[in-house]
Amino acid sequence: MDSGPRPSAPRLACRAFPPERFLVPRVHLLDPAEGVDYVGDLLVEDGRIAAIGKRIAVDTEVPILDEYTGCWVFPGFVDPHAHLRTPGLEYKEDIASGARAAAAGGYVTVVAMANTDPVVDSGTVASWVLGKAAQDAVVRVGQVGAVSKGLKGEELSEMRELADSGVVAFADDGKPVSDADLLLHALRYARGTGRPILLHLENKSLSLDGVMHEGKWSARLGLRGIPGICESGPLARDLELVRYAVAEEDRLAAARATAGAPASADRGGTPMVHFQHLSSADSARLVAGAKRDGLPVTAEVTPFHLYFTDERLRAFDQNLKINPPIRSEADREALIAALADGTIDCIGTDHAPHAPQEKEVPIEEALNGSVGLETAFAAVHTALVATGKVPLARVVEAMTTGPCRVLGLEAPRLAEGAPADFCIVDLDERWTVTPATLRGKSRNCAFLGETLTGRVRSTVVDGARRFERAGGEA
Ligand SMILES: [Zn+2]
Repeated sequence: MDSGPRPSAPRLACRAFPPERFLVPRVHLLDPAEGVDYVGDLLVEDGRIAAIGKRIAVDTEVPILDEYTGCWVFPGFVDPHAHLRTPGLEYKEDIASGARAAAAGGYVTVVAMANTDPVVDSGTVASWVLGKAAQDAVVRVGQVGAVSKGLKGEELSEMRELADSGVVAFADDGKPVSDADLLLHALRYARGTGRPILLHLENKSLSLDGVMHEGKWSARLGLRGIPGICESGPLARDLELVRYAVAEEDRLAAARATAGAPASADRGGTPMVHFQHLSSADSARLVAGAKRDGLPVTAEVTPFHLYFTDERLRAFDQNLKINPPIRSEADREALIAALADGTIDCIGTDHAPHAPQEKEVPIEEALNGSVGLETAFAAVHTALVATGKVPLARVVEAMTTGPCRVLGLEAPRLAEGAPADFCIVDLDERWTVTPATLRGKSRNCAFLGETLTGRVRSTVVDGARRFERAGGEA
């Protein structure tokens, strides 16, 4: 499998802005991976962090952005899971509006899923989307290629061609890969390209037309429930498939070793499989067990599942209808613990814009999903950090180095000479999420009406400000 030519690198595309020169003085600099955690200054020049330190002296012509004094600076966030809806579904979102929403959320990179129209299942479509991002996107966009043609789960997509066009990973997200044989073949091909497969877990014969988590609230509300086993069942199966694929790789490597090649399979650092949007305590327990066994798997959780519980469906709010469903308080607590201890590697937004006619209908008929790029950090900060459940540094890791490790991308960092990719956040600003606070095209946000603490003030990509908001401004 590693005998072919070297796999091509993932491509991240973004509109170029003229680089700026400015100093951000007296901000709290926090980058856990670099051991940076102090109040100091940051100097940006020529697209890079020219200097970082307790106090930086600059000549008089350097603009000083002292409106951010007292704010925090983190490496720019990276979202491994968003739906930017280009091509074909631009009535919900497009690359330009999705990237604007991402910038407003502190993201410097956002990875778009393949469930568009047409599906991103060939190199031609992937190259076209990335070309569009290079013209329109204010932050970097990475593209995922489909695992199966047309997301039909029947035949593999053009995986090698997709990799050569620069996709960062493969996923049929929105749908599970139900056929075990197809998934095994996909795992072999994906490994040859150095890309992970991202899996949406769902047993379709159990989820059916379910609306919410199956539990006491679904019974009380008379809404059809989706049991937790709908996710943990396929997860258990997929872990066994990964175990099988790893044993196969090791057998092949051992056979090559007798011919003089290295004895163990080179797993290249990236996981074989990444589990998207975990929603249940059982799923977290299964992933923890797999990691103890050394399986090359990673996992993600969304801010929705960390913040809400199924009780909130009481108001029949369609914006809280998401897939997998928001589950019980016990599930939420287990997901928080799994994020804190590293069982869950990263936070993905699952930003899923929909038009009013798709959401403002009876909850049984509403499409699944909520937008989430603008609110992700604030929601997690409010529910996890401000309550003392998870340290701020762990949340920053889960939004920066965590997703980058999953996708094999270089992580943004606060270090002299590094590309200037960071966000500036006011951790004390309290704000209420209203339609006016959302920058994307759609308004279907589960957090509408919630008051959150902590808000992004500015996002810098390649040394240029891509998003700026005055304190207190919508
Ligand atoms: Zn999904």
